Amino acid sequence: MTLLPEIEVLRKDLEKDVVNKRIKDVTVRSATIVSRHRNRPEFVKALTGHKIQALGRRGTYLVFDLDDDAALVVRLGSQGTLSRETASQSLGRHTQVAATFTNGGALHVVDPAKDGELFVVSRTGLADLTELTPAGIDPLTDTFTWPSFSQELRRRNAPLRGVLKDETFIVGLGDVYADEILWAAGLSGKRLSAELSSQEFRRLYRGVQEVLQEAVKQGGTDEPVDYADDDEYESGGFIKVYGKEGLACPRCRQPIRKDADDDGSDAFFCGNCQT
Ligand SMILES: [Zn+2]
Repeated sequence: MTLLPEIEVLRKDLEKDVVNKRIKDVTVRSATIVSRHRNRPEFVKALTGHKIQALGRRGTYLVFDLDDDAALVVRLGSQGTLSRETASQSLGRHTQVAATFTNGGALHVVDPAKDGELFVVSRTGLADLTELTPAGIDPLTDTFTWPSFSQELRRRNAPLRGVLKDETFIVGLGDVYADEILWAAGLSGKRLSAELSSQEFRRLYRGVQEVLQEAVKQGGTDEPVDYADDDEYESGGFIKVYGKEGLACPRCRQPIRKDADDDGSDAFFCGNCQT
């Protein structure tokens, strides 16, 4: 789960439950997920006994502020999530790390693709981790104006869909939100980003904000992976085109199309009202 709205939804949801809890026991199944540490025991020792004081987000990383100037950084895998469990719940097949709390409950790190990462650092050391400072705009927290947004699009001058998916421009949109934003703005993803009219820049700018705010409000997508295979994508009512090939466009009723984009991903769009 590396899409920004999903991570923000998860953060908000977990925050209520984990803040002020003290970590009792930690189990790590695979050393790979904690590879910034020398070994598993070192990670377990660094985390055990700490109390969680806050849960924040830096781009697509989750940062648990711990007492004694420590922080737990979590980068979820491409299919990963964090799930709350009872303390006695056995580890699921894809659970790579589990932490129990002194006053009950547990948090499991589920990582089916085994490409996530966890590590403990000092809170003061967080500032030195450049990967935690996203190169691109964080559209949920950064204030960005439409003139600066359009200036950057003009500078890049590349097909819109690729620009939206570029993490050095905006963090965490992926195929799903790129397609939804383009649909909301009524723009074709093949258009060159420098060639939009000022009205179109504004439509795209508004599309970014509206689609992401709605996604967070509605709790993100339930299924972070493989929903393109579903005939009809049922979760996430804010999804208008992604994974909906052949269904009627909610705006003009023409069938939604699917085409392979230049990078090999599937692009979903309405060929009639996205121009
Ligand atoms: Zn349409």
